[in-house]
Amino acid sequence: MSKVFNFSAGPSMLPEPALQAAAKAAIDYNGCGMSLMTMSHRSKPIVAMFAETEALLREALDIPQNFKVLFLQGGASLQFCMVPMNLLPQDGCADYTITGVWAKKAAKEAKLFGKVNEACSSAEATFSYIPKELKQDPKATYLHVTSNNTIYGTEWKSFPKPANPNGYLVVDMSSDILSRKFDWTNMGLVYAGAQKNMGPAGVTIAIVRDDILGKVERVIPTMLSYATHIEGESMFNTPPVFSVYVVNETLKWVKSVGGVDALHKINERKAAKLYKAIDDSSFFKNPVAVEDRSPMNVTFVPTAEGHDEQFIDFCKARGLVQLKGHRSVGGFRASIYNAMPEEGVDALIEAMKDFEKQL
Ligand SMILES: *Cc1c(COP(=O)(O)O)cnc(C)c1O
Repeated sequence: MSKVFNFSAGPSMLPEPALQAAAKAAIDYNGCGMSLMTMSHRSKPIVAMFAETEALLREALDIPQNFKVLFLQGGASLQFCMVPMNLLPQDGCADYTITGVWAKKAAKEAKLFGKVNEACSSAEATFSYIPKELKQDPKATYLHVTSNNTIYGTEWKSFPKPANPNGYLVVDMSSDILSRKFDWTNMGLVYAGAQKNMGPAGVTIAIVRDDILGKVERVIPTMLSYATHIEGESMFNTPPVFSVYVVNETLKWVKSVGGVDALHKINERKAAKLYKAIDDSSFFKNPVAVEDRSPMNVTFVPTAEGHDEQFIDFCKARGLVQLKGHRSVGGFRASIYNAMPEEGVDALIEAMKDFEKQL
């Protein structure tokens, strides 16, 4: 068993069964007599494991057949560049919703390849809310959205509709993929680094609609082209087999607890009780718009100065770690992804109450 409740925003907690399976596979993969880390990605068991991982992900998120599932490297940060490089025509335009640092970084990369229209921004209020009105370019190829803003603790509860009838959504789901189901109707591409809610660092998932590629004229380096990885079935070059395996085991755990809908309910319950504890407290407050509160990353700040370190140490002594907020927000952040047990949230709430009592 893990010894502490780890509230880190990423890399973050993983389900215990996935860690146990990974520990075994590190020594001997499924009785093959060798470590998974030493096995050829082209060997039968590994090709089968990749196919199973894809099938589990398709089942978990109801991914339609006209989408390809890719296991890539380079993190979500490389997707910031691969997305516009593959999708944004030189003379075209893309809409970006600026709801946090990650969204800003995505837009910055897109500007290297074409025109970027900032459809909305909550920068003026330290990204403490999700803008409700968008000024989209009616000709935009795609509309980019950061589903959950990991640093600020805000989430789009539903995705905006692209104004261009031929446009589509591109969504960075790094920090809330597998936490809820969503509608695929306007989706073009979904991407997510695994290390928040899906597995360890090293693998990035991209789910690409098959008709959006091949529409730009620029030369795309082989490794940066989605087409390469579709053609190579995520094995154009050596893929991060061990990371994909942990994703596989995490997906099996997701299924074993009732799937994404069941987790969604649990996530809502965990988040509701933590936000209630913050709202009920006179020492902590949550700095984001109530309707946009993230069920994954719960940010809270002290109402009085000078207690930050004290609270972090208080929690640490109880085995509640990694609660420091991002430096741009300050205060505290509890990341309570799928793998954070409800007991972890309960223990944090108790610590908050006890801390306040002894002040
Ligand atoms: C963590 C994070 C990223 C960056 O992911 P890397 O895999 O480290 O590149 C991008 N977007 C969001 C929403 C994130 O939470």
